[in-house]
Amino acid sequence: MEHHARCYCGQISLVAEGDPVIQCFCHCTSCRRWSGQPVTACILWPEDRVRFVKGKEKLHRFSITDHPEGGKFSCAVCGGAVCTFIPGARLFDIFAGVLTAFDFQPTIHINYAERVMALSDGLPKYRDMPERSGGSGALIAE
Ligand SMILES: [Zn+2]
Ligand SMILES: [Zn+2]
Repeated sequence: MEHHARCYCGQISLVAEGDPVIQCFCHCTSCRRWSGQPVTACILWPEDRVRFVKGKEKLHRFSITDHPEGGKFSCAVCGGAVCTFIPGARLFDIFAGVLTAFDFQPTIHINYAERVMALSDGLPKYRDMPERSGGSGALIAE
């Protein structure tokens, strides 16, 4: 199954294939500052299952690290968020709001220690990340 995504103005669009690796809420300061939202709805896909359909040349990359590939990608025309590329894990993170028709089913919260808004939804809340993703695996109670 293909999942379509686009920026705010629609000049950049991409497709993610199949099931995502994970769907989660991220409370990290980095996501928060970039998105302007208290919580972000993150959906991760392996690099090889994401392709740009149009407007790739209009991508603007911003990174706070020296890595030549990683960073936050937005549309140079409208400024809207497109995706984040995580080079270490070779994953694209596409916000749920950028996907055009996706049934967002988050299973965990990550980086909950950095939260500015508490949520009581019964989902596991990781202090940073699950162990399988290189985090401590520690949980925070609601
Ligand atoms: Zn745009
Ligand atoms: Zn984040």
